[in-house]
Amino acid sequence: MNIEHPENNPQYIGLNVNKGIVQPPVINPYLAERKKRRDYTPAEYTEEIRKGNITILSQAVTLLESQKTEHQTIAQEVIEKCLPFSGNSVRIGITGVPGAGKSTSIDAFGMHLIHERNRKLAVLAIDPSSERSKGSILGDKTRMEELSRDVRAFIRPSPSAGSLGGVARKTRETIILCEAAGFDTVFVETVGVGQSETAVHSMVDFFLLIQLAGTGDELQGIKRGIMEMADGIIVNKADGNNVEKAQLAAAQYRNALHLFPLPLSGWTPNVMTYSGYYQLGISEIWDMVDEYIAFTRKNGYFEQRRNYQAKYWMYESINEQLKNHFYQSPVIEKELFAKETQVLHSEISSFAAAKQMLDIYFKE
Ligand code: GDP
Repeated sequence: MNIEHPENNPQYIGLNVNKGIVQPPVINPYLAERKKRRDYTPAEYTEEIRKGNITILSQAVTLLESQKTEHQTIAQEVIEKCLPFSGNSVRIGITGVPGAGKSTSIDAFGMHLIHERNRKLAVLAIDPSSERSKGSILGDKTRMEELSRDVRAFIRPSPSAGSLGGVARKTRETIILCEAAGFDTVFVETVGVGQSETAVHSMVDFFLLIQLAGTGDELQGIKRGIMEMADGIIVNKADGNNVEKAQLAAAQYRNALHLFPLPLSGWTPNVMTYSGYYQLGISEIWDMVDEYIAFTRKNGYFEQRRNYQAKYWMYESINEQLKNHFYQSPVIEKELFAKETQVLHSEISSFAAAKQMLDIYFKE
């Protein structure tokens, strides 16, 4: 007698019931395994990052971008542990107005560096618009088609939460992790529209400004401050019948640069034309960057700039945390709106209101 399926007993001729299979679990067992991987200790994170494990590197960056205190604690420990293995890359800031050709150029630069100069490249971004619009203009993988498929490139979109200072700090910390993972070239991209250049400038060795040949009045449109920060200006889209215009623009930039005092680096910024799309003049740009790095290493400016930046970030970090502590303090949160209303109704001056709020905070 077939106990499992009595219907299979010979007395029921013509009836046959198949033996069932074991039902698969409702929850995918691999999911549980994946979750477990998240519970790495800081030492394990560091070890994997040092081996160049990109998945773990991405996870560590996600932790450091997280708002949760427990994630932050782990991330900070990982950064501390990675710090001795960092600093070995060339950090390059890249800026330009939307449409200047940043993504096209970074794709071309990246492929050149990886395949012609045997580099490993991390592309990071600081995008001040991402907080407001909740959508990042920069760092989106699909913008760099070739590079995003290359295993020797690591592309990470801009952190989106928090103030520009907070976003910039996270990008700077990500640089440390990328360097510990063996990336010897780091791009930090930003949109050439505002303060974010200053943030990028404060974390890179070379600042590259992508410009376009326009209608002849291009110089009026450039913010002087950004031009002063640039170590190299490259005029994109020098292709087809745009070549002459691009060369003219380059000549104008060169003239304009003459009016600026010589930068502390002792290096006169170069102006070049190129085409990111048709990949013309790319090698010359990277010869120039390499030359700058060799030049500033020799005259000591490279070290000096990095030291200055390290100091700058210490103070930035203190300022940022003090500010957060103030605004997140429950008594301040409770009082702030009322005080603001009083100021708006001219019942109290802005300064007196600020003093009262700070008094409340320090009495806490
Ligand atoms: P981004 O906004 O600065 O990232 O600029 P994109 O890389 O998205 O480029 C903006 C537009 O300019 C796209 O349509 C590109 O195809 C085009 N473009 C970029 N580089 C070049 C170039 O070297 N030559 C020409 N002719 N067009 C380019």
